[in-house]
Amino acid sequence: MSRVYNFSAGPAVLPEEVLREAADEMLDYRGCGMSVMEMSHRSKDFEDILHDAEDTLRRLMSIPENYKVLFLQGGASQQFAAVPMNLMKNRVADYIITGQWAKKAAQEAELFGRVNRIASSADRTFSYIPDCSDLPVSADADYVYICQNNTIYGTRFPKLPDTKGKLLVADVSSMFLSEPIDVEKYGVIYAGVQKNAGPAGLVVAIIREDLISDEVLPGTPTMLKWKTQADADSLYNTPNCYAIYICGKVFHWVESMGGLLAMKEKNEKKAGLLYDFLDGSSLFKGTVEKGSRSLMNVPFVTGDEALDKEFIAAADKAGFKNLKGHRTVGGMRASIYNAMPLEGVEKLVAFMKDFEAAH
Ligand SMILES: *Cc1c(COP(=O)(O)O)cnc(C)c1O
Repeated sequence: MSRVYNFSAGPAVLPEEVLREAADEMLDYRGCGMSVMEMSHRSKDFEDILHDAEDTLRRLMSIPENYKVLFLQGGASQQFAAVPMNLMKNRVADYIITGQWAKKAAQEAELFGRVNRIASSADRTFSYIPDCSDLPVSADADYVYICQNNTIYGTRFPKLPDTKGKLLVADVSSMFLSEPIDVEKYGVIYAGVQKNAGPAGLVVAIIREDLISDEVLPGTPTMLKWKTQADADSLYNTPNCYAIYICGKVFHWVESMGGLLAMKEKNEKKAGLLYDFLDGSSLFKGTVEKGSRSLMNVPFVTGDEALDKEFIAAADKAGFKNLKGHRTVGGMRASIYNAMPLEGVEKLVAFMKDFEAAH
């Protein structure tokens, strides 16, 4: 068996320790004689898995008591609809457009109400985060929406926007658990877990309790009403049991690595290595403005499409997988999530140096 360095943007690399542990427990989960995939979601064993995952996440992120943690299905994209359905009392919301995912979320919200795009970085291919210190926040906006780390374009909000007192909703999918965040600054935080925490199909939503109510838009499906899920402790129907189980293990792994602050330091070191190389390179160039760079997704180009292709092929052959940029951007992108070891980035940089010298 040999593991590659997987730079995929998602589904993405998971900690090897977690995969090994899951493999060990595959046929017989802790003496119960069956795998987690085969057990009832109402069983004591699974309830323990669910509660342990939630407790661990609460410790890791210091989630205050007055926030609910929900484990939901439909991925992050399902929340693009759930957010307006649950929050649009005035049917008005402000969106900051920093890439594809924010754009999609705004389009979805438009099915339900008026969407004001109060800032955008579309003018320069989403290569920066716009100044959000004095935005034209709508007086009647139900919330202000951001995608805090833009997986495709490799940008991250250097600081949160001034929402002028309005509720902040954030999609943090590709930066989930990569650094500490102050939960209290948000009304709703959600993350599709396949970027940094587990298998695809599960989304973790952290929602301030007073935002969870029966007052949703008319026609909101039962399953999309946060209250349904909150009242049922994420067990309204059969949840994505196996994904919750793996996430629980990843949460424990993050804790064993020293928690979110330690994770951030490690991630800064990894990203710094790559950015420093890109800044000094005569061949490769990062595509994102310095103040807006993501710690998780690092896009870069050579400036020559044919050479990009050659690099991606050569890297693939050498065991550096999935470095091709998103189809809408081209070039390369290295996603260096929590589970990517420092050594993976060091070796990638060494490989890039060699490639540069040869071209
Ligand atoms: C991947 C991604 C999504 C979409 O996630 P799905 O689970 O496929 O719906 C949404 N937002 C961000 C920031 C992402 O990176």
